[in-house]
Amino acid sequence: MKLNDFRSDTVSWPTPEMRRAMADAEVGDDVFDDDPTVNRLQEVSAERFGKEAGLFVASGTMGNLVSLLAHCGRGDEIILGDKAHTFRYEAGGIAALGGIHPHTLPVQADGTLRLDDIRGAIRDDNVHFPRTRCIALENTQNAAGGVPITKAYTDAVGEIAREHGLILHMDGARIFNAAAALDCDVADLTAAADSLTFCLSKGLCAPVGSVVVGSQDFITAARRARKMVGGGMRQAGIIAAAGLVALDTMPQRLYEDHANARRLAKGLATIPQIEIDLTRPITNMVFCALRADAKLTAPQLADRLKQHNILTLSMGERGFRFVTHYWIQPEHVDQLVKAIAEELAS
Ligand SMILES: *Cc1c(COP(=O)(O)O)cnc(C)c1O
Repeated sequence: MKLNDFRSDTVSWPTPEMRRAMADAEVGDDVFDDDPTVNRLQEVSAERFGKEAGLFVASGTMGNLVSLLAHCGRGDEIILGDKAHTFRYEAGGIAALGGIHPHTLPVQADGTLRLDDIRGAIRDDNVHFPRTRCIALENTQNAAGGVPITKAYTDAVGEIAREHGLILHMDGARIFNAAAALDCDVADLTAAADSLTFCLSKGLCAPVGSVVVGSQDFITAARRARKMVGGGMRQAGIIAAAGLVALDTMPQRLYEDHANARRLAKGLATIPQIEIDLTRPITNMVFCALRADAKLTAPQLADRLKQHNILTLSMGERGFRFVTHYWIQPEHVDQLVKAIAEELAS
């Protein structure tokens, strides 16, 4: 990459192997179910998660949207975190397009929702109330710091869902990061989820796309919803080919991104003007803040870092989120720490 780009793992370019696979991809019309490469990606994805079927979609946002359109009718209620990507960053799509009523619960520091809060949020059968239909979890929980959610917790939420006849959906945009951090199998980690969306285009480095997995009936409904929102693609094998390489080559190397994130966190902790909590579990995201006495604000520092050929994402006046990915090497981490130390030195 020309720039050291720490803004997100979404900036990661496809690998040379992905570009070759894209050039050579066998294709067909996927709306007719005719694209062999898309079909293969959907099968491989379903198999990886131990679910019946998969559906290739344009983005994680589309994956969550078509999943929830498939699960919920208008006026149905979904229980999800107040920091959930689906609640905060998906343009209100579930409400705008599905008439789905979000019931938010506070996301805890460890990325979970309290089990008692979930139980308390489930509605009784009463003509005044919306009908609770679905619980959604996010793993890793992005806004809580990219923290992984354990299998034990997910299973406990799955148990509550089953007791009440509810559906458990998992926004697993970075589920492979969670599995790498917890050193477990993704199928095992997400066994309790009825449906799940994961992103190919973040840590897995593919240029485009996400996959939804779940039961055959659910996927049939999600496929119709995908068509409705304009997500029926044609020779999509061109991009699915990169997704197949992503699934084959990327999950097993994510621990490198996590090691680089820890390297970065430790480096930042040596800079006196930076506040960072080293006790937090780290996947591929590092959150920190500038102390009040730092001579630059976060946007000013981000601007200075551009002169070092480094792109970063400031959050508010004092916060930063740095994300590591395939194209970030240990030396890029060291360059970033050095550049920040230099710019903050008085
Ligand atoms: C990135 C992300 C998504 C989906 O985002 P797209 O940009 O639409 O692919 C969904 N949930 C979480 C937690 C994410 O981080």
